[in-house]
Amino acid sequence: MYDKFQNFLQKELQNIEEAGLYKKERIIESPQTAEIKVSTGETVLNFCANNYLGLSNNPELIEAAKEALDNRGFGMSSVRFICGTQDLHKTLERKIADYFGTEDTILYAACFDANGGVFEPLLSEEDAIISDSLNHASIIDGVRLCKAERYRYQNADMNDLEEQLKIAQKNRFRLIVTDGVFSMDGNVAPMDKIIALASKYDAMVMVDECHSAGVVGKTGRGVTELFNVRGKVEIITGTLGKAFGGAIGGFTTGKKEIIGMLRQRSRPYLFSNSIPPSIANAGIKMFEMMDKTTVLQDKLHRNTDYFMTKMKEIGFDIKPSKSAICAVMLYDAKLSQDFAAELLKEGIYVIGFYFPVVPKDQARIRVQLSAAHEIEHLDKCINAFTKVGKKLNVLK
Ligand SMILES: *Cc1c(COP(=O)(O)O)cnc(C)c1O
Repeated sequence: MYDKFQNFLQKELQNIEEAGLYKKERIIESPQTAEIKVSTGETVLNFCANNYLGLSNNPELIEAAKEALDNRGFGMSSVRFICGTQDLHKTLERKIADYFGTEDTILYAACFDANGGVFEPLLSEEDAIISDSLNHASIIDGVRLCKAERYRYQNADMNDLEEQLKIAQKNRFRLIVTDGVFSMDGNVAPMDKIIALASKYDAMVMVDECHSAGVVGKTGRGVTELFNVRGKVEIITGTLGKAFGGAIGGFTTGKKEIIGMLRQRSRPYLFSNSIPPSIANAGIKMFEMMDKTTVLQDKLHRNTDYFMTKMKEIGFDIKPSKSAICAVMLYDAKLSQDFAAELLKEGIYVIGFYFPVVPKDQARIRVQLSAAHEIEHLDKCINAFTKVGKKLNVLK
């Protein structure tokens, strides 16, 4: 049998490659930080990690992880409800709830699991899930696992959301679900308007704060802080794998009965291992740091403003963004790839995205800013963009 299947896979892989869609991985031989050493020998400036606060290589978090390795061992070897919970996991759940101003939290191995396991235990055939068209793959998969009726509205389009809510009045319960920050444009979900519509049409709200938690809002509490709606959404999901240290781990935080039901019925929680003690302890440490100071948020926001302002002045076409994601629009797939390759020669590591990751004729380079960047790094990146922009006739 495998001969036939092997043949089939080889052809499919070849098709992917010929379509120019083959995903190659760059190998890093240093910690994840502003300057990384790649396996081809160069040291490059990193503008494509989700390391928004520069915590991926933070000494205090490394120390906290080591301390737990020494005191609590390597792994849990168990799911939570059998033999997989330490005080560290419970403390971390409390810290997450305090951070977001919610009632309770449940941890998962990743936010992909949190989103995969949130809908099916809560909603059924009579109910409605109303989902933004640009929501993350894990939300789409989670919705597929649930029997609720599905509605989709155009990205952040409040007229469309209202139309869908009107149709969904026939359902028993309604849940609006949105990413906080949309990862390709860097735009934020208009949470104030979403909550107003939810209240008008008797719906609940879930927001995925993966790209916004730690980043957006004056103190980094995410889009609920930015729009001054803390405590007004029923469900928040998020990751420890981006701004919050970048290791691994996801969570759902929100109303206590919702979290209570997830602990009973959410399959990725019930049938999958707990996060290791080292990750839990580093997570606790990280939230303690967040409570003490906003220096990292302040620096990230300064860096983002600096970069976007300069890039606009120089004449680049930048998507409006309220996050640490800056989409430099090029509109042409090949140009986006050539541009990224030229930038790499200048020591700047960024990724060019094109269809089907972004809509046709919306090719771009996505720059991700970080508190790990110093002004020199930003200037080097801006200068490289300018040089390549002129060379490739993007700038006049
Ligand atoms: C990254 C991301 C996830 C997945 O998070 P992991 O913890 O890496 O599984 C889910 N939702 C959104 C919006 C994301 O950006």
